Amino acid sequence: MHEHADMLILGGTILTMDDQGTIIHHGGIAVRHGELLYVGTEEEARRRFQAPETLRADSCLLIPGLINAHTHAPMTVYRGLADDLPLDVWLKEYIWPAEGRTVNPHMVYWGTLLAADEMIRAGTTLFVDMYFFEDDIGRAASDAGMRALLGEALVEFPSPNAKTPAEGLAYVRASLERWAGHPLVRPILQPHSTYACSPDLLMRSKALADEFGVPWLIHCCETRQEIEDVRRQTGKPPVALLDSLGILDSHVIFAHGVHLTEEEIALLGERGVSIVHCPESNMKLASGVAPVPRLLQAGVNVAFGTDGAASNNDLSLWGDMRTAAMLHKVASGDPTVLPARQVFWMATRGAAKAFGLDDRLGSLEAGKRADVVMIDLCRPNLIPMYEPYSHLVYALHPSDVRTVIIEGRLVMRDWEILTFDEEEVFCKIGEMAEELGRQWGRDTDWRKAMGQ
Ligand SMILES: [Zn+2]
Repeated sequence: MHEHADMLILGGTILTMDDQGTIIHHGGIAVRHGELLYVGTEEEARRRFQAPETLRADSCLLIPGLINAHTHAPMTVYRGLADDLPLDVWLKEYIWPAEGRTVNPHMVYWGTLLAADEMIRAGTTLFVDMYFFEDDIGRAASDAGMRALLGEALVEFPSPNAKTPAEGLAYVRASLERWAGHPLVRPILQPHSTYACSPDLLMRSKALADEFGVPWLIHCCETRQEIEDVRRQTGKPPVALLDSLGILDSHVIFAHGVHLTEEEIALLGERGVSIVHCPESNMKLASGVAPVPRLLQAGVNVAFGTDGAASNNDLSLWGDMRTAAMLHKVASGDPTVLPARQVFWMATRGAAKAFGLDDRLGSLEAGKRADVVMIDLCRPNLIPMYEPYSHLVYALHPSDVRTVIIEGRLVMRDWEILTFDEEEVFCKIGEMAEELGRQWGRDTDWRKAMGQ
């Protein structure tokens, strides 16, 4: 007698990312109601289960979906608008004016669908976003079949979506209620930074996060300038300020954490604060090199984020994993730091742990949610394969990702996106880019690129 499953994935090698680091050859996975019902061998899966849909994974590697722990999804619209500039010029003369003219629900919806397209194609199944009009970002993620943690950026000054901090907090409260119980989308709290938020807003946002039992993420210690500014404004550097407000605990996540003292690193380890490392964004904006090997030694949990497409300029986590593995070797003069397996652990288990999702996501184990990425190994850059972690971090191209399943649903099969019309997204973005390009005297050429 067979047990019923919705889908079977048979053949291939399963990199489970469980605590033992189990790798299963000739694997078999059964999925039911969005959950991993069974993860083991093909032989046993065939014997025990039957399903209306079977995927073959021969010559493929099956991995848990990647988690992009910090991004600004709609900023895909500003990709390549301005590069190679000092941070203040980049922000004040390009990004902020562009945002001032164009950020609205329409822009964030389509910008997020473009981001979802790029992330799904690169094997990312969950992204943690910080921007404005996050309900529309959640709508785009849900339409794309992608998981998202929404972070309406809370700031002291008027934002495109809220005239006051109180309005911003009210928006997040309504959003937390609206999305309650949604299988893919969940709002969390994201005050922008210690320089853009008053201590009162920082504390009120943390109280709201604790009331709903959700994580609290903030940009922190990204640049030296930020630390000086916060010290001038409040008399304390950012970490001491947050500590004095009683905010630092294991539900707190810092995006960046580039400039940290030894004492601050020890404190973060003690309090269980996680760091999202964004090496490509930090390198491109010349922010500095985050002390990742020291953080890991101090027991700080570290995940990866791409940051927005305006400062990376892509949303593939593979690039950030590879960059991190190399950057910390050259920065420390030690080629043994950040080995490939640890780097891949950070992009899956580490990220799940940072957001309190380790019991649901981050590995392929029975009982967890079915977010499965299939990588085609019949590629010149992946042959031969002695060690899968090495390939994942040092040799893989995002286009080697063949099929993506999120919450048990096929969102991409054999490189074809199944949940939305990719071409429609390109056209909508093209129209917005034409408008923006005109303001900066650039010809975007998108109609020619689309054959129109
Ligand atoms: Zn950011």
